[in-house]
Amino acid sequence: MSLIFFPPPIQQINSEIIRRAGVDLYVLRLDLMHPWVNGNKWFKLKYNLLEAKEKNFTTLLTFGGAYSNHIYATAAAGNLFGFRTIGVIRGEERLPLNPTLSFAVQQGMQLVYLNREMYRQRNTPVLEESLQQRFGEVFIIPEGGSNLNGVRGCMEIVGDAMPTAGYAYAFNHICVACGTATTLAGIALSLYEGQRAIAFPVLKNGAFLAQEIESLLTNYLASDLPTPSNSPASWELMCDYHFGGYAKVNDELLMFSQQFREEHGIPLDYVYTAKMFYGVMDLLKQGFFGKGDSLLLVHTGGLQGNIGMEKRLQRFSKI
Ligand SMILES: *Cc1c(COP(=O)(O)O)cnc(C)c1O
Repeated sequence: MSLIFFPPPIQQINSEIIRRAGVDLYVLRLDLMHPWVNGNKWFKLKYNLLEAKEKNFTTLLTFGGAYSNHIYATAAAGNLFGFRTIGVIRGEERLPLNPTLSFAVQQGMQLVYLNREMYRQRNTPVLEESLQQRFGEVFIIPEGGSNLNGVRGCMEIVGDAMPTAGYAYAFNHICVACGTATTLAGIALSLYEGQRAIAFPVLKNGAFLAQEIESLLTNYLASDLPTPSNSPASWELMCDYHFGGYAKVNDELLMFSQQFREEHGIPLDYVYTAKMFYGVMDLLKQGFFGKGDSLLLVHTGGLQGNIGMEKRLQRFSKI
């Protein structure tokens, strides 16, 4: 199923901050794997799609906000792999559709809206039952692809991207932006001893994720999904780079992201990757990493979140 995807390139970047810190810094460009189905969202979908195929489902149903990378990726992947797709969207319908949702519709996704209160019940059996009744037999994927199939797919992000098997050893810190922590859990399960995963929560008070991560790891290891060859790597949460919370930005973050793109040719999204890259650069300035360390920053793709912020950006391009 992955034949149509490009292997993600690994790109070294250089700057004064990196040189002073005495580290090597590489970016794993999951954003370049496929024009539509890219980033960590593909890895989280992969085994969900395979399970749906195996069980002869023809329709996928999933959940997301109006700018969701996951809705976008599910619509495109469903279309590529021959599934009908239904997207349950949080909130009221707004017309004209924004670019994320109109893309989803172009890919054949049927959109359904739930008010915020109903949407909060999305993981309850009652709501799932009523959706099954309304739409017939559908394969339900949780918001963000955040289940154990999602964790399993994310175990392939670092190792499988490497040009040779031993290459992954070269990195001792793997950095990733963190929403539900499904991606982090998969990465932590796939690393070798001595490697460390560092996650940057984009939500305020991200420390609560520690418990979430522990239970994802425990549940994965207790499941009958393929066992990883190593015990989970150590991991750490850097909770100070949320910029006020989910999808919140300030001018400093916008400037950083724009400069980063100009200097290194790598676009970042404001909801996730910009916060992680900012955090890593800040930690480098503080001397958090040791000289000789080798960092791999996972670019998780997904530039949907930028659309709503274009207006603020235009202001900067006038400077
Ligand atoms: C969804 C998303 C994340 C968060 O992944 P989790 O597995 O929920 O932690 C990170 N980066 C991007 C670009 C995303 O779209």
